[in-house]
Amino acid sequence: MKNGFTTTILHSDLEAPIEHDSVHKPMHIAVAYGYEDARELARVFKGEAAGYAYGRQGNPTTAALESKVTKMEQGVASACFSTGMGAIASMFIALLKKGDHVVSTSFLFGNTNSLFGTLNNLGCDISFVDATDAANVERALTPATRMVFVETIANPRTQVADLARIGELCARRGLLYVVDNTMTSPYLYLPKRDQASLVVNSLTKYIGGHGNALGGAVTDTGLYDWTKYPNIYDNYKNAKKEMWGIQQIRKKGLRDVGATLAAEPAHRIAVGAETLALRMERACVNALALANFFESHPKVTRVYYPGLENHPEHARAKRWFKHYGALMSIELAQGNEGIDCFEFLNRLQLVISSSHLGDNRTLAIPIAQTIFWEMGAARRAEMGIAESLIRLSIGIEDTDDLIGDFKQALDAK
Ligand SMILES: *Cc1c(COP(=O)(O)O)cnc(C)c1O
Repeated sequence: MKNGFTTTILHSDLEAPIEHDSVHKPMHIAVAYGYEDARELARVFKGEAAGYAYGRQGNPTTAALESKVTKMEQGVASACFSTGMGAIASMFIALLKKGDHVVSTSFLFGNTNSLFGTLNNLGCDISFVDATDAANVERALTPATRMVFVETIANPRTQVADLARIGELCARRGLLYVVDNTMTSPYLYLPKRDQASLVVNSLTKYIGGHGNALGGAVTDTGLYDWTKYPNIYDNYKNAKKEMWGIQQIRKKGLRDVGATLAAEPAHRIAVGAETLALRMERACVNALALANFFESHPKVTRVYYPGLENHPEHARAKRWFKHYGALMSIELAQGNEGIDCFEFLNRLQLVISSSHLGDNRTLAIPIAQTIFWEMGAARRAEMGIAESLIRLSIGIEDTDDLIGDFKQALDAK
């Protein structure tokens, strides 16, 4: 990236001429693309010529977004999908075979955890370890390990994975290292700097930001040597070596799973992405101010936020991330002097009770009673999820308004 983060995104579309001198890439909603010369159609199919054939395999509007995501992550290429889960599932389906082993983190996004359960039933073997220490990842490796998959900041307890040392470990062992960068976004953290091979983003969260479109992306950083990966099909070895992986993820992923990102949501996400840096700056300032406010409030017994000095991984978060993110969790005081989590949530006037995160609006959800309900109290206790834990996704409202809203809800008698 020659220019700064925001300049680069804003001017990305204009790198190639756009019809009618439009300054935005238009929405191409066609499903089919016609060719005057049928030989050209055949060349597009074979990958010998650039072009589009059928909408499931991509469209120009989504391609413009892919180019922006690639620039944000400083990668070589990206493939977009209809959701973050669509991206993750398509990547696994494209790259894993029966008998393969994956090492991942115990503090994993619930739906990815569920997907690993499905992969396990299909014949893959998954180990979950405490990835805040790379030594745990190393101990779990087997000769069948194909991939290490981690997240940057865990949801809801905000553990920060040992990203740099896991990157070194994977580089040393020639292993594919996949980082889900959703919680930090490429503005706060570049997994490539820590030698990630592939980066996953749910575009639904901070990159889109406005909470009005679903999307996901996989970006190849160009660092992994795909000639060492045993599961690349011969069909995908015609391209440059650095493109083998992303080509297989795109072609097989979109073909087999079909989680294609349509032009309309791609356009909305691209517009949102223009202000990613501005929104992140504001949301992170709000989050740090709120974390400090909660720390000093008697009705809040614990605050989980990497920006606080008492957070176990504060030092590495400070070193690696531009800011500490906009996700935090709090535990409310229980008992006589305590506060009921539903009463607290219902008293909030601005903050919305919602399961989403990464929105411009501040959202709150009680974890034990919703997202982690199905697993039962025993498993929750094992994972350190208190019954009074509330996850907060901090938005871009004016700081004083947010503090005021939380204060009245905590102080109400
Ligand atoms: C939300 C999320 C996803 C899935 O994204 P969707 O767009 O909701 O499918 C994946 N990983 C993380 C860390 C997330 O927060």
